[in-house]
Amino acid sequence: MAKDYYELLGVSRDATQDELRTAYRKLAVKYHPDKNPGNKEAEDKFKEISHVYEILSDPAKREQYDHYGESAFQGGAGAGGFHDPFDIFREVFSSGGFGDIFGGIFGEDGPSRGPARGRDLAYELTLDFFEAAKGTEKTIKVRRFETCDNCHGSGAKPGTKAVKCGQCGGSGHIRQSGGFFSISRTCKVCSGQGKEIEHPCIVCDGTGRKEAAKKIDVKIPAGVDTGTRIRLSGEGEAGYQGGPTGDLYVDIHVSDHSVFSRRGYDVYSEVLGSYHQLVFGAEIDVQGVYGPVKLNIPAGTESGHVFRVKNCGIKKLDGRSSGDHFIKIETEIPKHLTGEQKKLLEGYAATFKSDGEKKVKDARKFVDKLKEAFK
Ligand SMILES: [Zn+2]
Ligand SMILES: [Zn+2]
Repeated sequence: MAKDYYELLGVSRDATQDELRTAYRKLAVKYHPDKNPGNKEAEDKFKEISHVYEILSDPAKREQYDHYGESAFQGGAGAGGFHDPFDIFREVFSSGGFGDIFGGIFGEDGPSRGPARGRDLAYELTLDFFEAAKGTEKTIKVRRFETCDNCHGSGAKPGTKAVKCGQCGGSGHIRQSGGFFSISRTCKVCSGQGKEIEHPCIVCDGTGRKEAAKKIDVKIPAGVDTGTRIRLSGEGEAGYQGGPTGDLYVDIHVSDHSVFSRRGYDVYSEVLGSYHQLVFGAEIDVQGVYGPVKLNIPAGTESGHVFRVKNCGIKKLDGRSSGDHFIKIETEIPKHLTGEQKKLLEGYAATFKSDGEKKVKDARKFVDKLKEAFK
């Protein structure tokens, strides 16, 4: 279910940037993982509102959202991804005029300052109809930051170590007393890390990470559809200076098929039956998603009739059940008849002659009546 971004932040659609910011601050503090240790729900909420704020605080993105809704930010982005919610949080709280107010909210030490988590990445993967229906394995290539193997992510030249930041004494922030309350700012020397690298690793320039193209095998379960999102935990970008790795989200797009069309887990296709099969009834094999499907045509079936073959649609993601296969049957009109077939058919047609003439007369009467009615 798409949620309304403005509702999530509890502001009106014409909220000013200041109002957005204030609303975000309040909620972000409430749901910050440091205030809710071990509470996954709060963490998800924190990430959600950070993402929402990231979009609404950017005038161009906000306009896109107002026009197209949430879909403007799904798929299509390729290997892009959102910012780390913690980065957004830090940014908002370090530029609001009051400096950093963590001290007051989180106690003396503030939120964990250590190495930061790597970004989540998004990748759009297009599958054909059968790959999505049967499941498959794909190798995708993403460019991402990985842990630098020269310094193993520490950022310090091998053989050296990061030292405690001399400016902030390792706490990551500078506290200033301002009358009735004290404020603290992120230490500019160490950017809040609390450490200084005196001899940066020459490969990664002290960041602990380096950009690389990486091939990743992705297992696609049977039943995925356009809009399915697969999360590969820990396959996003490496963290800074040994911080945890982000996640990789694979957004599935399923392309159209010439025979089958799909709505959810149900599948639709058409088949041609010959006139005598529809008249006398028949059992025929129809191409199904996972193999031939037996179709029992009862005698006297009309052309255009749709049969519903239960459980022969797409396998559901839970692996326990399937959708249905809807098959529409149309009469096949033969273009070439043998002499014998022609003769038999003519004989058959002759038996309708008198009846046919009567029908034409009735139809004329009907049209005349219509004309009368509209005079
Ligand atoms: Zn390095
Ligand atoms: Zn510092």
